[in-house]
Amino acid sequence: MASPPLMNTYARLSVAFERGEGSWLYDTQGNKFLDALSGIAVCGLGHAHPAVTQAITEQASRLLHTSNLYTIPLQEQLATKLCKLSQMESVFFGNSGAEANEAAIKLARLYGHNKGVENPSIIVMERSFHGRTLATLSATGNRKVHAGFEPLVGGFVRAPFDDVEAVRTIAQNNPNIVAILVEPIQGESGVRTPADNYLAELRKVCDEQQWLLMLDEVQTGNGRTGSYFAYQQTGILPDVVTTAKGLGNGVPIGACLARGVAAETLKPGNHGSTFGGNPLACAAALAVIDTIEKEKLCQRAAELGALMRDGFRTELAGADYISDIRGQGLMIGIELDRPCSELVVLAKVKGILISIAGEGNIIRLLPPLTLTDSEANLIIGVISKLIKIVAADDRDSPRSQGS
Ligand SMILES: *Cc1c(COP(=O)(O)O)cnc(C)c1O
Repeated sequence: MASPPLMNTYARLSVAFERGEGSWLYDTQGNKFLDALSGIAVCGLGHAHPAVTQAITEQASRLLHTSNLYTIPLQEQLATKLCKLSQMESVFFGNSGAEANEAAIKLARLYGHNKGVENPSIIVMERSFHGRTLATLSATGNRKVHAGFEPLVGGFVRAPFDDVEAVRTIAQNNPNIVAILVEPIQGESGVRTPADNYLAELRKVCDEQQWLLMLDEVQTGNGRTGSYFAYQQTGILPDVVTTAKGLGNGVPIGACLARGVAAETLKPGNHGSTFGGNPLACAAALAVIDTIEKEKLCQRAAELGALMRDGFRTELAGADYISDIRGQGLMIGIELDRPCSELVVLAKVKGILISIAGEGNIIRLLPPLTLTDSEANLIIGVISKLIKIVAADDRDSPRSQGS
């Protein structure tokens, strides 16, 4: 078959889905798959959730778009709801995680210029992921994301993740820093969880230095880690929070939330988006938040995540090739001491969709928050068995034999 006229930006699996329901996807041949990825942390309520379907069909029949030149009541309603949930004070809406982060980066630079800092710079972390636009890829701590797109956008200073001392050292040496941008848990690089007091320590440094603490909750937000935002389990408040993925359950929407001086930094003419915060996307997000609250899905994510990590620890007990089983809520990482990319296809054959992150050795699971206990147990059973098979094959293969 001739290849389709798509730019070759994704190495796709050869399966196409035509329908989804709850945790399940159905392909064009009628096979069903348990979606342990939820898109990529997008469909937190599962596929075709009736509350979201109803909200967007009703809104689509009424009004899709007016532009941001006019008042959009649903956008105001959503902003009010998000501020109440997050203790933030104002919101800018875009259409993706990268756009939410672009807003945060611009906000931080303007905050710096307003303070008289000539070259405002932002501390970002090694192994981070913030998006694929030019500023957000430059902020990202992964050489593979940068390669070929130099010159990178300047004004980012890198520190190792989960290393407060490194940040303090930068504070002593660089008067241009105005903000820190960090993921509460690094998602794309393999569900990396920092020390419990990491964000609180960063908060202290930001307070001492009058820097903005900006959290990228594009992946960790919207209930995924067991609270609406991950920082709500740390006792601190950031100055800026970005989110996207799970906010619209599949309808594109991103948000940059802020409080204090950061809430009032951007002024008319400073930033904008044609589509951002349109009635359709806001109707979807309002239905998502309402459902998360009604179905108590944050608590559910916390309980189910603990259950799944325990389940994997039991199934894989004593396996010396398992380096770590970690995560928070339904953001789960299983790190092997060896590459295991073949698991994606093996799991697909068994009817489960997973992804591999990090250096090809970390299994990442992001199942819907609506997952049932029996679906969770199915994932644990099938994936544990496949991990054992892959590890045994690896042991028998010529490349690991002898010295
Ligand atoms: C996915 C992701 C992004 C980028 O979001 P897009 O919607 O793909 O632009 C940014 N930050 C984090 C932490 C992410 O996981």
